[in-house]
Amino acid sequence: MNKKILISGGSRGIGAATVEAFAAAGDQVVFLYQSSHEAAQEICRRTGAASIPADVTDSNTVRDAVDQAAKLLGGLDVLVCNAGISWIGQICDTSDANWQQICNTNLASVFYLCRSASEYMVKNHSGRIINVGSVWGRCGASCEVAYSASKAGVRGLTMALAKELAPSGITVNCVEPGVIATDMNAGFSPEELNQLIEEIPLSRMGEPAEVARVIAFLASDAASYVTGQCIGVDGGFGV
Ligand code: NAP
Repeated sequence: MNKKILISGGSRGIGAATVEAFAAAGDQVVFLYQSSHEAAQEICRRTGAASIPADVTDSNTVRDAVDQAAKLLGGLDVLVCNAGISWIGQICDTSDANWQQICNTNLASVFYLCRSASEYMVKNHSGRIINVGSVWGRCGASCEVAYSASKAGVRGLTMALAKELAPSGITVNCVEPGVIATDMNAGFSPEELNQLIEEIPLSRMGEPAEVARVIAFLASDAASYVTGQCIGVDGGFGV
């Protein structure tokens, strides 16, 4: 059956691959993005998805965007909280503004999105929420204290919300990517990337579509008895 899907951060990277995966399966997709208007338009043209520019760090903006998406879709079956940013630097160089921007984008946004979307899902007594964490939320990355803390928060939120929403027929899970070939890793030099790759058991970076396939699985009937789980999509990096 075709599903009504909302994805945050669908203009690039893992989110864009997720839009493509659901659209290719015949699902109806609306995605949020911040400022990549041209990329968003191109994805809409290619997939038939609709896009809404919305800063997910703002609670009221998220509430309005979720309402708008549910109206466009005629309901809401699946929420994918994917939008995120990274920042690398030592803790002594991390400003309050850095900390707040990372925590608001990666963690507060997940809270705002889940809170608004769950209202629709609880009414239907059905729904799927898939959050995008990170291997660093499990292992901790040197010089990424704020990022690692925000992604560990996504783990905690996922497990707590899974217990809260299970009686309402809603599953809540998390995928934790490792090193994936997106703009987020574009700042690494080839030497730095090679060093990272040496630590990955599968000896390569992941592709955005490989994460999207696990997200699609968690939204599918095949995952009907899976909730509260944080699933690594990291080539064995976090093992
Ligand atoms: P990306 O290519 O940099 O894309 C980020 C997406 O998030 C873009 O669509 C961007 O919109 C959107 N976004 C950022 N801030 C936003 C805001 N305030 N409001 C609305 N949208 C916002 O990133 P990615 O690599 O695909 O990462 C996607 C998720 O996977 C993130 O949560 C990231 O932490 C996680 N992850 C990635 C990796 C990796 O190696 N790539 C590893 C582990 C986890 P615009 O295009 O408009 O800027």
